[in-house]
Amino acid sequence: MPVTADQQAEIDEQRAETHTTRRATVPGMEAHLYTAHPVLDHGFVRVIDYMGDDSAITQAARVSYGRGTKAVSNDEGLIRYLMRHWHSTPFEMCEIKLHVKLPVFVARQWIRHRTANVNEYSARYSILDREFYIPAPEDLAAQSVVNNQGRGEALQGEEAQRVLDWLRSDSDTAYDHYEAMISQDGQQGLARELARMNLPANIYTQWYWKVDLHNLFHFLRLRADAHAQMEIRVYAEKICEIVKDWVPLSYGAFEDYRLGGAQLSGKGIECLRRMLAGEDVTQETSGMSKGEWREFMGVVKIAS
Ligand SMILES: Cc1cc2nc3c(=O)[nH]c(=O)nc-3n(C[C@H](O)[C@H](O)[C@H](O)COP(=O)(O)OP(=O)(O)OC[C@H]3O[C@@H](n4cnc5c(N)ncnc54)[C@H](O)[C@@H]3O)c2cc1C
Repeated sequence: MPVTADQQAEIDEQRAETHTTRRATVPGMEAHLYTAHPVLDHGFVRVIDYMGDDSAITQAARVSYGRGTKAVSNDEGLIRYLMRHWHSTPFEMCEIKLHVKLPVFVARQWIRHRTANVNEYSARYSILDREFYIPAPEDLAAQSVVNNQGRGEALQGEEAQRVLDWLRSDSDTAYDHYEAMISQDGQQGLARELARMNLPANIYTQWYWKVDLHNLFHFLRLRADAHAQMEIRVYAEKICEIVKDWVPLSYGAFEDYRLGGAQLSGKGIECLRRMLAGEDVTQETSGMSKGEWREFMGVVKIAS
């Protein structure tokens, strides 16, 4: 259960309240406010607050360009220009605050993005819930043979069942011991800050995460990418849907230039030019390593 009945009642109460404001608001974001979007088996993402819209970005850019922006008069053209030329500071004028519930091993990847403000649930102060991420059977995959940092085909039959059983029973046993250690029933009870150390990395934690749009795009480019681990990618994909409703012009430019775009090396551009001129370029004649060539061919998608 991503949210309890009490939490849902609190969300309903927050959503029933409205305020008048002179600040810019975005109908798509107002619709998202406070709602918990489920992710994985017990996780969620919900928008707690946001500041700015597409206009805040163009407004900031026009302050910096002044009369120079006359040539790019419409907002979409200006936003696409900014994204294309890595003029990133206008995107920092927008901010978003999210409440995220996520497994601890996902949080460890997420927290590497240092350009955000974070406030996490304290397991020193409060007792963690008995909620563990257990992958769906189709996500319980074998180690990839081509990528040390990835997964291959789903485990099958008895092996899949055995792994699922261990994940469930190990989580339960660890939590039983956690509860027993902190219990003050007939004993002193171990401090919560110590008892938590036997809990596995698939237990859920929660945090508030506030970030500006430029750094959020950086996070999304890395974590909504097909090479990101599935368990963080599903959060990034949900956030992409939210951002699309918040700043549709900026998201459109991001989707085109960053998510859908690709960076070519100098050698890559040279090879592409030779190919377009009709030359049969191979990895051996490209000057690229095997890995570079594989990635280059993945981008240009020309049969060799
Ligand atoms: C597919 C994938 C695999 C990964 N594998 C590993 C791994 O095996 N091991 C591992 O340790 N990490 C790994 N990472 C994490 C990765 O190295 C980065 O830490 C993470 O993606 C955050 O990126 P960032 O530093 O650009 O983001 P942020 O921390 O949000 O920073 C954004 C940008 O701000 C600037 N910046 C922020 N802080 C500083 C600073 N202190 N000094 C200078 N510039 C700064 C940099 O330009 C940075 O790019 C992996 C990430 C991905 C996406």
